[in-house]
Order: sequence, then structure tokens, then C-alpha cells
Amino acid sequence: MQRYFLLLLSFCSLTMLAQPRIVAHRGYWRTEGSAQNSIASLQKAAEVGCWGSEFDVWLTADGVPVVFHDATIDGIRIEDTTFATLMNHQLQNGEFIPTLQQYLQAATKIPELRLIFEIKPHRNAKRDNKISEVSVELVERLGLADRTDYISFSKQACKRIHELAPKAQVAYLNGDLTPQEIKDMGLTGIDYSIGTFDKHPEWPLEAKKLGLEVNVWTVDGEEGLNRFATTPGIDIITTNDPNLAHLTQERRK
Ligand code: MG
Repeated sequence: MQRYFLLLLSFCSLTMLAQPRIVAHRGYWRTEGSAQNSIASLQKAAEVGCWGSEFDVWLTADGVPVVFHDATIDGIRIEDTTFATLMNHQLQNGEFIPTLQQYLQAATKIPELRLIFEIKPHRNAKRDNKISEVSVELVERLGLADRTDYISFSKQACKRIHELAPKAQVAYLNGDLTPQEIKDMGLTGIDYSIGTFDKHPEWPLEAKKLGLEVNVWTVDGEEGLNRFATTPGIDIITTNDPNLAHLTQERRK
């Protein structure tokens, strides 16, 4: 009991000293000239001083990984169509939908930025494996393995990434596994919603005790940003509003 208390105390003091790192959710897109998951949003996340930038990846029917959030574009399912059908789709800032290769090549020019690579859950385990394999291969070929962290709602994708890249940080998003279950799978972190942590307020510190990294999404607004920045055990905050996140950090200093 005493040991647990001391452990808790040390985590609390560490957390008070260290501010959580800030990740831009789908890049920094709430600004002029940007759009969710655009190459501009990646560059702008770095420009406003984010530690990392998150993005979402799907695999087309003909095996081209693309960066986009939704499962469909103009009613067409990305998984069911060829890249040629999608390539002229424009994002809100006028960019064409980026291939993963284009996106990661842009990232190679921003060495200070951590890449938070979300593998979207595909139709079945075979497709989850395929997107995981293509992703790890490309990240390694472009020399980005040291600064890429993987996240997914798919247990299968998390497992496959961990097999392919055992040294990589891999965090699960879906909130239905305990920190111990994540540890037992060999994963390195939990990246759970605000709602999940509200339901399981003990999980951040439980995860820390197991040596896991703890990320919370998607925290917008001053109240939430302050609350999670001062919640013991939270390492990373994913937000649509990185400027406000940084501002609230400044105010707490
Ligand atoms: Mg995402």
C-alpha cells in the first residue's frame, strides 16, 4: 500500500513538472490554406510547434495507400476503388488527395515533427495486414521509422505492426482493452477518447505503471485542455486546436 502511494506520488510530481506533448489531430487544419490530412496541415503542425501530427491512412483496391479520414469519398468507398478513380479528388485547400508516399516524402523535410500514423480499420484481417505491411515498408524505406508512432482502432493492425516493427510505438485507439491487456499484446500505449478516460479514470496511472504511453483524443477547448494537462499519467494530448493547447500550457507555467 505504502509502495503504491509512493509510486502514485512520484507520478503526480513528474506529471506536474512535465507538460503533455501536443499532437495536431489530422494535422493543423483550422487555419488558412489548410485542410484535414493535407500536406499543408502537416507542415503547419510543425510551424505552430506541435510535437507530433496525426493522419489517417487507407489502402485503395489496387493497393495504393492514401491519406484521408473518411472511408468514402463522394460516396465511393476507398477500399473498393482504384487510385486512378480518386486521384483527382481535391481537399478543401485545393490539394489533391495525397498518397502516403507523397505525404511521407513531405514529412522527411520536417525532421522535428513526430508522425502519428493511424491505420484505419479495413474490411477484414487480410486487408488490415496488407495496409500494415505496406505502411511499415514505406516508413522504413523513407527513413522515418525512428519518428513514426502507429495507432489504430483495429486490434489486428496493431498486432501486425508490432510483429513487423517490434521497436515501434504502437497504441490502440478503441478503448475496450485495459492497460494490462494492451501490455500483454506487446503494444506500447493507449490512445483513448475523453469518454473512455472519464469511464476509467484509473487507466492513465495503471498504464504508466506498466510502462505504457498514454494519449487522449480529441481534446479541444480550454477546460478540457487544462483538465488533461493536469491529469496524472497523461503523456500526450491530441487536439484540433494546437495553438490553444500551447497557450494553455504557457498560462500554467
Ligand atoms: Mg485519426
